[in-house]
Amino acid sequence: MNCDFRIGNGYDVHRLAEGLTLTLGGVRIPHTKGCVAHSDGDVVIHALCDALLGALALGDIGRHFPDTSEEFRGIDSKILLSRTCAMVRERGYSLVNADMTLLLQAPKIAPYVDEMRDALAQAMGVSAEAVSIKATTGERLGFVGREEGVEAYATVLLCKD
Ligand code: MG
Repeated sequence: MNCDFRIGNGYDVHRLAEGLTLTLGGVRIPHTKGCVAHSDGDVVIHALCDALLGALALGDIGRHFPDTSEEFRGIDSKILLSRTCAMVRERGYSLVNADMTLLLQAPKIAPYVDEMRDALAQAMGVSAEAVSIKATTGERLGFVGREEGVEAYATVLLCKD
């Protein structure tokens, strides 16, 4: 059996503020609030990048794409994801699957999930079947429930080519 697998997990959180753009899982979502961030604030992609980097012990997204760099101001996080996947491929690994959980109170995410899966799969060069996105509210509890922030968790499995 080929056991050359690597597993990784990632987490990200961003504050929400009125009048900003909300981009989650590579998809622009109409809403009154968006993420406060140096980049486009896509927590789903940031958690996913950290999971990919973590699987190969390559550090974290802040190390590779520092939020102090002008290069990354307002950047489309799909670009960061593509660059992260290039690092994974350079080391001889491919993504088996990625599974993400998004926590936000509003708006409802279900109508956007398939579009997000397609966007992330395209950025990573994999099939959408390898990409899972689940969303849940904060049940009105905590900062997610008060619509003050959004969180994302990601788990990935990589296999040596
Ligand atoms: Mg982030």
